[in-house]
Amino acid sequence: MKPVMIVTGAGRGIGAATAIMAAQKGYAVAVNYRSDKASADQVVAEIEADGGRAIAVQADVVDEAAIVAMFETVDRELGRVDVLVNNAGVVDQISRVDDMSFDRVDRMMKINVVGPFICAREAIKRMSTQHGGKGGAIVNIGSAASHLGGAGEYIDYAASKGAIDVMTEGLSKEVAGEGIRVNTVRPGVIRTTIHASGGNPDKPDVAGEVIPMGRIGEPEEIANAVLWLAEAGFTTGALIDVDGGV
Ligand code: NAP
Repeated sequence: MKPVMIVTGAGRGIGAATAIMAAQKGYAVAVNYRSDKASADQVVAEIEADGGRAIAVQADVVDEAAIVAMFETVDRELGRVDVLVNNAGVVDQISRVDDMSFDRVDRMMKINVVGPFICAREAIKRMSTQHGGKGGAIVNIGSAASHLGGAGEYIDYAASKGAIDVMTEGLSKEVAGEGIRVNTVRPGVIRTTIHASGGNPDKPDVAGEVIPMGRIGEPEEIANAVLWLAEAGFTTGALIDVDGGV
């Protein structure tokens, strides 16, 4: 039996790179997507063409029933989850706080904070030795924004990722005695579509100038850290910065 990994938001970007690298390392992978089925199917096809095992599973991480159904589908089709990667996340248009609507901040917190919490809950029910599980790992995708703050750009996003840092600290201690490790990778600017969807399509082209290493990162460089944390048996509660030195 292959170990099982669920990657939320795995149709493109960091999630897709993580799913593909995980399959190469022997995981059976659940490729979660919200709306872009074609991209998720493409990731599954790439994994299968390489001899790996993967399924695409639709669930919006703001929909509790959909999250529960996703975990049940994975139970049935791949087996009990060993690693959850809380990757799905969004930014929004560049804005000061005094221009932010209630709906914008509400959506940001639901997708970037509530979703990861509920996915973690479902993972813990399956991994925890208290629930008859054999342990596991949760890897969250945070952001360098949580220590930079996002001023003039997206403080709501930065704050949502700050919540992920704190969740990592607390949850890692809460479940450490139950065989579950909880860690977070904090990417800097990475070459994905998130910048265009947040109304900042030029960011990958200009961000390198203010990054000490002089370039932005690639999705595979984040996937590499996620896969390391998935296997790092004595590491929990860690915030791993993969950001070119910002
Ligand atoms: P991306 O290219 O925009 O991809 C985001 C993925 O998340 C898509 O597959 C999307 O699915 C999915 N998604 C969005 N909302 C969802 C929801 N409500 N439920 C389920 N899936 C959802 O983003 P990315 O750059 O790879 O970012 C991945 C993670 O890294 C995010 O948490 C982001 O905050 C974090 N991060 C990124 C950067 C960066 O520079 N790229 C830097 C720091 C942190 P659909 O296509 O189906 O909508």
